Amino acid sequence: MTASNTILTDGFGRKHNYLRISLLEKCNLRCTYCMPADGIALSPKASLMTAEEIFAIAQTFAQNGVDKIRLTGGEPLLRKDFPEIVSKLSTLDISLSLTTNGILIDRHLETLKEFKVKKINLSLDTLVSSKFASITLRNQFEKVVDNLHLLLNNEFHVKVNVVLIKGFNDNEIVDFVKLTQFLPISVRFIEFMPFAGNEWDRSKMVSQKEILSLVETVFATDEIQKLEDEKNFTSRNYKINGFQGDFGIISSITNPFCDSCNRIRLTADGKIKNCLFSNSETDLLTAFRNGESIANLISESIQNKKKVRAGMATVEEIDDPTLHFDNRSMIAIGG
Ligand code: SF4
Repeated sequence: MTASNTILTDGFGRKHNYLRISLLEKCNLRCTYCMPADGIALSPKASLMTAEEIFAIAQTFAQNGVDKIRLTGGEPLLRKDFPEIVSKLSTLDISLSLTTNGILIDRHLETLKEFKVKKINLSLDTLVSSKFASITLRNQFEKVVDNLHLLLNNEFHVKVNVVLIKGFNDNEIVDFVKLTQFLPISVRFIEFMPFAGNEWDRSKMVSQKEILSLVETVFATDEIQKLEDEKNFTSRNYKINGFQGDFGIISSITNPFCDSCNRIRLTADGKIKNCLFSNSETDLLTAFRNGESIANLISESIQNKKKVRAGMATVEEIDDPTLHFDNRSMIAIGG
């Protein structure tokens, strides 16, 4: 590492090589755990990063050690200039990936292939069409499933993100695991997390322990293989012997993985968040537009990063809404 690379190393020695960029705050679904019931106040268009600004800011990160960029939203494929953004970012020495609800995949398939965006995280919280409509408030289940198969047929690496909410989809955990028998996908069960307006409470959350217990009601323990944790992992992964795919658990609440955190988030209006749970942000875009250097601002934000979950080290602290009520909604962070 050169001296300048240290701007992405925090006080706990964690190196931040992974930047998640939210391209916009809009979405074509209304998932209740992500978007508050009365919507969010959208930032005026002029305060969102343009394609050129996204590229320039990403370039500063890449020059300082970021080698992975994931595009998120809202729904990133809704950006009309998505091909332009991907084309510009593909010139950086990074791997580029995407998180999407899957609805517009067919429209952008050629762009994704052309610029080698082969790692796709697709959100799908239920395998039941009517339940999909009730959690997303839109009837797009078949479209998403068709596009999941389209991605697999074109040899993309697909992770299916499932946010588990007790009483809604916890009875589908085994069905999702069974889906990995014939599909080469990674299903990732995500513990329900608190964000502005999503009415989180701990009783709605399905914990890592409960997920594994449910899987063990159907599969013998010697059939369930624990896979080695990846470097900077977010999900602890498992595989049923003989199945093509695997499944993992993202247990941000009951078993956080902050020790190996390498992630920093850039919102669509150009602010960085040093942690998913952090309610303090650093405005890069204004500084960039004023012609100021953003490297010091990035460094300051990284240095202020707390060891665990923006300072909420215990589940009791997560339970206290006063500690995170003013964090953004998930739709404006990009997960
Ligand atoms: S909670 Fe914050 S520090 Fe922990 S892994 Fe997530 S982003 Fe990183």
